[in-house]
Amino acid sequence: KIPAYHHRVAAAVHSVGKVPLGIKRKGLRIVVTGGAGFVGSHLVDRLIARGDSVIVVDNFFTGRKENVMHHFGNPRFELIRHDVVEPLLLEVDQIYHLACPASPVHYKFNPVKTIKTNVVGTLNMLGLAKRVGARFLLTSTSEVYGDPLQHPQKETYWGNVNPIGVRSCYDEGKRTAETLTMDYHRGAGVEVRIARIFNTYGPRMCLDDGRVVSNFVAQALRKEPLTVYGDGKQTRSFQYVSDLVEGLIRLMEGEHVGPFNLGNPGEFTMLELAKVVQETIDPDARIEYRPNTEDDPHKRKPDISRAKDQLGWEPKVDLRKGLPLMVSDFRQRIFGDQKEKAS
Ligand code: NAD
Ligand code: UDP
Ligand code: UDP
Repeated sequence: KIPAYHHRVAAAVHSVGKVPLGIKRKGLRIVVTGGAGFVGSHLVDRLIARGDSVIVVDNFFTGRKENVMHHFGNPRFELIRHDVVEPLLLEVDQIYHLACPASPVHYKFNPVKTIKTNVVGTLNMLGLAKRVGARFLLTSTSEVYGDPLQHPQKETYWGNVNPIGVRSCYDEGKRTAETLTMDYHRGAGVEVRIARIFNTYGPRMCLDDGRVVSNFVAQALRKEPLTVYGDGKQTRSFQYVSDLVEGLIRLMEGEHVGPFNLGNPGEFTMLELAKVVQETIDPDARIEYRPNTEDDPHKRKPDISRAKDQLGWEPKVDLRKGLPLMVSDFRQRIFGDQKEKAS
């Protein structure tokens, strides 16, 4: 019989940041699905740095080996090319389940595959968690609130989601993933955690993934016009990736199931975002209006009181501080690549 999660982990002093200097902490074995992607790779960096053993499971749909290559050769790091829609046998203590394309352009590319990833993929990882007694964390999304009729959004809000729209494969997929997570918790006693992540940006985002921050930054650097969809008055709240990673780890290590909103309450219209990008990269960058996409949520801003109270977490990096950190990575990847192609 597998001992309960907390018995095994109690032996491994695991509270992040609380390990007294000089005491050797026993590392955990952690799976990060989607660990070769944008958020996952930053999470992996933190877990490896604190001494854990990490297995990345990724099918490389939107992830890249380059994001985790710096860990190759580390005996505490393993990379498995695997699609979570297929069953997987591993022995681990924790599962961070991130595998799923996050950009609308990517998740709409093959909507049925997106649903399978969210539903069958999450089912498999919960089955794995149940079999080995691991703690399971789901990265859900602010999209579960749909086009919200409450503002800002609290975790108690049930959302306003179109079940038959072009975004449904993602929003409804994640809503079902949350349901499965709670059913494995209630029915099989699996230890679970649910994060509802709001728009996040930072280094290693795909250059052309179509999300607004990556689009504007790449466009400004390439001296192309910034493409504002619709009238540009819709809002989003942008979180820097290191804040998110801190929140995910606190959630996993803490005692609360959630769901927890993890996002930065700093809210911007797309026109305001374009202005910050102009100020940061190129004051002469032009704006070009394009038709908006279908079912685009009009506004989005997290209420993070629950995460503040129960996880002691809040974001530290505002947009004007975070954007330059992403710009240097984008500059290097855009112009570095061009130099390579030219030579
Ligand atoms: P990303 O696209 O960079 O990363 C997703 C990773 O999952 C990629 O490495 C991809 O190859 C992998 N993947 C996709 N389908 C898979 C499958 N079937 N099997 C195995 N691997 C698969 O996206 P991200 O921004 O890093 O997002 C990570 C997670 O966070 C996602 O679950 C996303 O829904 C959630 N999230 C992100 C944001 C955000 O703003 N970045 C917001 C809300 C929720
Ligand atoms: N599963 C997996 N790895 C495991 C255990 C289970 O991928 O280590 C998959 C399994 O193939 C199944 C899913 O998780 O499709 C749900 O497993 P569970 O045991 O909860 O349900 P059952 O197999 O009884 O349908
Ligand atoms: N958007 C935009 N220009 C772009 C890309 C997106 O104005 O080049 C808008 C989009 O219509 C939406 C917002 O930016 O209102 C955020 O879109 P994104 O795809 O980044 O994330 P979402 O929050 O919709 O998942």
